[in-house]
Amino acid sequence: MFDNLSDKLDKALHVLKGHGSITEVNVAETLKEVRRALLDADVNFKTAKEFTNTVKEKALGQNVLTTLQPGQLMVKLVKDELTELMGGETAGINLSGTPTVILMSGLQGSGKTTFSGKLANYLKTKKTKKPLLVACDIYRPAAINQLHVVGDQIGVEVYSEPENKNPVQIAQNAIAHAKQNGFNVVIVDTAGRLAIDEAMMTEISNVHKAINPQETIFVVDAMTGQDAVNTAKAFNERLNFDGVVLTKLDGDTRGGAAISIKSVVDKPIKFIGTGEKMDAIDVFHPARMADRILGMGDVVSLVERAQEQFDEEEARKLQKKIAKNQFGFDDFLNQIQQVKKMGSMKDLVGMIPGAGKALKDVDIDDDAFKGIEAIIHSMTPKERTEPAIINGSRKKRIAIGSGTSVQQVNQLLKQFDQMSKMMKMMQGGGGRKMMQAMGK
Ligand code: GDP
Repeated sequence: MFDNLSDKLDKALHVLKGHGSITEVNVAETLKEVRRALLDADVNFKTAKEFTNTVKEKALGQNVLTTLQPGQLMVKLVKDELTELMGGETAGINLSGTPTVILMSGLQGSGKTTFSGKLANYLKTKKTKKPLLVACDIYRPAAINQLHVVGDQIGVEVYSEPENKNPVQIAQNAIAHAKQNGFNVVIVDTAGRLAIDEAMMTEISNVHKAINPQETIFVVDAMTGQDAVNTAKAFNERLNFDGVVLTKLDGDTRGGAAISIKSVVDKPIKFIGTGEKMDAIDVFHPARMADRILGMGDVVSLVERAQEQFDEEEARKLQKKIAKNQFGFDDFLNQIQQVKKMGSMKDLVGMIPGAGKALKDVDIDDDAFKGIEAIIHSMTPKERTEPAIINGSRKKRIAIGSGTSVQQVNQLLKQFDQMSKMMKMMQGGGGRKMMQAMGK
């Protein structure tokens, strides 16, 4: 995410970090570079200018020239200002109203339908709500079908009236249906056009007026950079929406939209979309995003994702197995699957401070575990629980079965053995023993 911007900001600030004492001249130089980095990332011109002016004022106000670690102070100032620019605080979603009505707006292809599904799924699983999805696109039957497919996938009912050509009526009927059938959130997906046009704007304004939603969300493709900001402006003038959703942040996005949108329309980014799957949705946290942009990682999100996958009962069972020396390859496979559920490897690595930058040219793909999984799948159940029985001929068979080499099988067995020993020591309360094992 935002690799290029991170890189350029890092280079700009690096100059200052290296200086024992710095001058007003090189602060100005650095900020010029910062501004260039922001403009290259497609940040709005005015936003970039104001940004560097503010940082400069604060830097001079805080006597950055005379502090012991001027570089670090500058990084902090840039980070704080980036956070502020992206909205400061995390903005929640308003779930008041019975039912809560949420209206989706945005251009065609921005990801409205996908996000409607993601949000329904998020509210259902995290907030234990009972959402209803509503298809209000009266022009493209395919769009109605798409929402039904999404609904089936996540187990959420979809309300549609394929014969009705009046989106206001469909939305109103859907809300009545929700009230009668105990749905407490109604998510209305609307028709989009490829570009802003008056007919579309009138249609969505009419729906908006008629259903008076608690949340009007503007969905925008982050890949479109400055265009995203301009479209946001146009929609905001008509709908005065409550929040923004930036989709496709998993792609090769430069970051301009994320950084400029709040300052241009003065509405917070509430969620981001990071993939096509239904669980690729994240609440937008400005401070964490600023950390990521500056290559500081995002440990908080990483831990949160781990906690989401963490099942206490499973963990207890696993602990018992480790204590009894029964941790086998099936458990190992299980653990790999848990990690994979946390997200794409590239995304996870990006959350580790420094790792994103250090490994940015390394091709990290989600196939990283494929070889390991294939090897384990080629083992018999007995071999998985008792790896010690895996002799030379078994190794050969496993290698052939998994399309790997005996060397790779050996490597995995060795790693597994070391890991088992390590876990056993940690269990025995032996932090000390572990240090000994590590050669201390
Ligand atoms: P709509 O016309 O606004 O309803 O847009 P869709 O929901 O149909 O999305 C358009 C395309 O973008 C589809 O192919 C989606 O799978 C894809 N898409 C949506 N959100 C994301 C995202 O966060 N990441 C990626 N990579 N693709 C997305």
